Amino acid sequence: MDILVTEELDAPAIQRLAEKHRLLRDGTLWKDAAKLKAAIREARAVMVRNQTQITAEIIAAAPQLVAIGRLGVGLDNIDVPAASKAGVVVIAPLDANATSVAELTLGLMLALARKIPAGDRSTKAGGWDRKGCTGIELDGRTLALCGYGRIGRRVAARAEAFGMRVVVFDPFAGAETPGRCGRLEDALAQADFVSVHMPLSAETKHMFDTGKFDVMKRGAFFINTSRGGLVDEAALVAALRSGQLAGAGLDVREVEPPRAATELETLDNVILTPHIGAFTAEAQTRTIEAVAADIDRVLRGEPAQNFVNFAQPRR
Ligand code: NAD
Repeated sequence: MDILVTEELDAPAIQRLAEKHRLLRDGTLWKDAAKLKAAIREARAVMVRNQTQITAEIIAAAPQLVAIGRLGVGLDNIDVPAASKAGVVVIAPLDANATSVAELTLGLMLALARKIPAGDRSTKAGGWDRKGCTGIELDGRTLALCGYGRIGRRVAARAEAFGMRVVVFDPFAGAETPGRCGRLEDALAQADFVSVHMPLSAETKHMFDTGKFDVMKRGAFFINTSRGGLVDEAALVAALRSGQLAGAGLDVREVEPPRAATELETLDNVILTPHIGAFTAEAQTRTIEAVAADIDRVLRGEPAQNFVNFAQPRR
């Protein structure tokens, strides 16, 4: 077998790959590490979304592996250093879904500011609660962007078009970055909206905790389209319950899908979406086409174009 696909994935690009290479698809493999370990043994390439955990152990169990294709951007489910060490290239088209995630972020901000879900719920229930649905404008408000990479910068451009003032916390952003703050707390304290766009790592896990919510302006809104693990969900619930935060928009959760309903599901001022930041027709097509083309290249002995590590193909 040349290519193993471990999550639900169907697209013309996959069909084309299947015509050229021996491709095995099992959308349940991500749920069972032992089954994955057995299935990957013969694979030369593996294609994953964000659910499959490609650990050092899994890579070690795949002696034929030369490429990991990540249909997305977050790399927290792949042990990239272990892949590099094993000579396995990690393919991820980093620009392919940034616009979609940025647009969802603006959507969540607008939905929170204008109470669109509450208006929808109450109107469908027979109400006509114009007063209860009184919102605020984005125009003139301050947005703090935590992480100013591909997505953060696209959100900034769109927010500025709405008349927002943008401040930025990103330790790796250049000094010339407009609105750059040296400390996260300085950005948070100014913001009416806080939006998170940084990777999840050991260093950033639970970065947004009680201390961070406390320094935010009372009545601010919090949006996370990055990774659930960046946020201490219990602290977020407490901040929402106390009124310290006016609302939250979360596309990502610490456990996905959540194993049991938490308090977040019970709060009217919280909008939850099922990790759909990259789920637009355009982003999916761009991503799958780019990864499939690179997998084909690597299997034919050519270098990948969208790689995130430096690894010499083993064969
Ligand atoms: P990117 O690498 O272009 O930008 C990330 C930025 O975060 C970089 O500028 C980096 O300097 C900054 N950063 C790193 N550590 C930081 C820290 N400790 N504090 C503040 N900033 C820090 O990545 P991107 O394409 O903008 O994506 C950002 C994140 O969005 C990804 O890591 C991924 O987890 C998430 N994402 C989610 C979806 C979705 O479907 N919801 C889709 C794509 C990406």
